[in-house]
Amino acid sequence: MDALVFFINSGCCQCSNDPRIYRCAAGDLAMAKATTTITQVLTSRPEQAAWFAANQVLSNRVCAFYFAIIHAHVKILDLSNKEALTALEKLTHTTKSHPAPIMPLEEVAENIPAMFRRAALNAALGSARSFFSHLQKWQKRKEKAEAKGMKVHERPPVPPRTWNTSAVLYAGMCKHRSEKSIVIKVWTGTCWSWIKVRITGRKLPPEASLGSPQLIGKGSQWGLHTPIEKHFKSPGKIEKQVTTNAQMKMCAVDLNINEHIAVCTIQTVEGSILATKFIGGGRRLCGFRKKLLGRIAHNRKKTGMLAENEQDNANLWNKMRHVDEQVAHLISVRIVQFAQAYDATVLVFEHLGNLKPTQGKYSKRGNEKRAYWMKGRIFKYAKYKAYKAGMLTSRVPPRNTSRECAHCQSLVARYHANQPAEGSRYGAPLVYCAQCAMKGNADRNASLVIGQRLATRYQQKGKPQTPRREEKSSGVAICQDAQSGGTQPSTGDARHADTNEHGTAQERGMMMVEPVSDIAHQLRFPCEL
Ligand SMILES: [Zn+2]
Repeated sequence: MDALVFFINSGCCQCSNDPRIYRCAAGDLAMAKATTTITQVLTSRPEQAAWFAANQVLSNRVCAFYFAIIHAHVKILDLSNKEALTALEKLTHTTKSHPAPIMPLEEVAENIPAMFRRAALNAALGSARSFFSHLQKWQKRKEKAEAKGMKVHERPPVPPRTWNTSAVLYAGMCKHRSEKSIVIKVWTGTCWSWIKVRITGRKLPPEASLGSPQLIGKGSQWGLHTPIEKHFKSPGKIEKQVTTNAQMKMCAVDLNINEHIAVCTIQTVEGSILATKFIGGGRRLCGFRKKLLGRIAHNRKKTGMLAENEQDNANLWNKMRHVDEQVAHLISVRIVQFAQAYDATVLVFEHLGNLKPTQGKYSKRGNEKRAYWMKGRIFKYAKYKAYKAGMLTSRVPPRNTSRECAHCQSLVARYHANQPAEGSRYGAPLVYCAQCAMKGNADRNASLVIGQRLATRYQQKGKPQTPRREEKSSGVAICQDAQSGGTQPSTGDARHADTNEHGTAQERGMMMVEPVSDIAHQLRFPCEL
């Protein structure tokens, strides 16, 4: 692997993207929205940090006050957010026309700015809606169990005992925002004052539509989290894309725990294979983890016992976690970039199977566990990154994806390069199909099978399978990898598998002649023939 940088990000994660992405429900013409949170650091003087803390304490008190009111008047939750806001303000806010509200907010603090009050009120309303919906669900479960004569052991949800809300700065609570500074209104503990703070860290993208920033504290460090929204045309349901457009491109991804962490192939619904990309680095990452796990085991051996409720070797564990996190981000972004380069509109993964615990040393077991967790993270990150690029993500059943032939669906043999092509060795890098004499890279074969599964899920509903044509190699191999100006280099292993049949070059524009390979048969979809 060439450019996987081991960059340990010890501060706040620059990629703290908000997974709150949603899609409009109405058809193709609907617009979709993706939200990302940009994290910036506020460089504040120590006394300013104390003011921010005081501001948050007040915000929490106001939240708790409103939550208590909603708790006493549950009917409020039947109203819409806007109506509930008005009702709660009538109950608590003193105005000329309402000089004596029933529960005055002045009891908590005086002169609270309207926008500060509304931010806290909305937070309390959100918490209350969540709490009562959980309570309702619990009651239903309880009734159901009691109707069956079973005992209920599950405890009911409890309202929040403590509050830790971060003050949202609505318009009116902040002003003069520039690249380097912002002026915000905070409660200093004694009065309300406007203060100017410097901003460092990631820049906001130009022309982004900004949401209200939030003042968030982490230890003694304070940061500004700004949601930015991106609106784009909704990509439409996968089923519709697959059934209506045979030329629709999808990027199928096989995630592994060995050297090639991800193997991606671009294929069309009708079956053409356009490109393959191997994303490596697994072995290096495994070595890195092994080193740290070894050190942890060594340190533990020296002390002999572990303190209760205290993380041992915290720095080493943190280091390992940060590297895993960083690598997962790098890999997911490379998957999405690759899919984008070929205008793929759907990413396909397989569902994660259960982690099968293996025998072996502490470091081997720990390593495998982390590699497995990373597969989940890569999927999670690739999903929201793809969505922002207008791509949807899907998952298919994982059964036998690495043992099925992408050409004829019979079981393949897995073997190592210097061994006979028979039997199935777990994790072996090559495949050979005795039925159709297909030979190739096992991970690439798996990713092709994954893509096929998505296509067949919608396409072949009730249709009889087309018989596959057996092909003979003409000796001239044409690389299937569409050239991408050198931006997506495949490894040596990749070339080994990326061969195509003679005669297919005329059908597609993006072909390139490569030296003869030992691959007898290309991997093609039945519907292409
Ligand atoms: Zn086969």
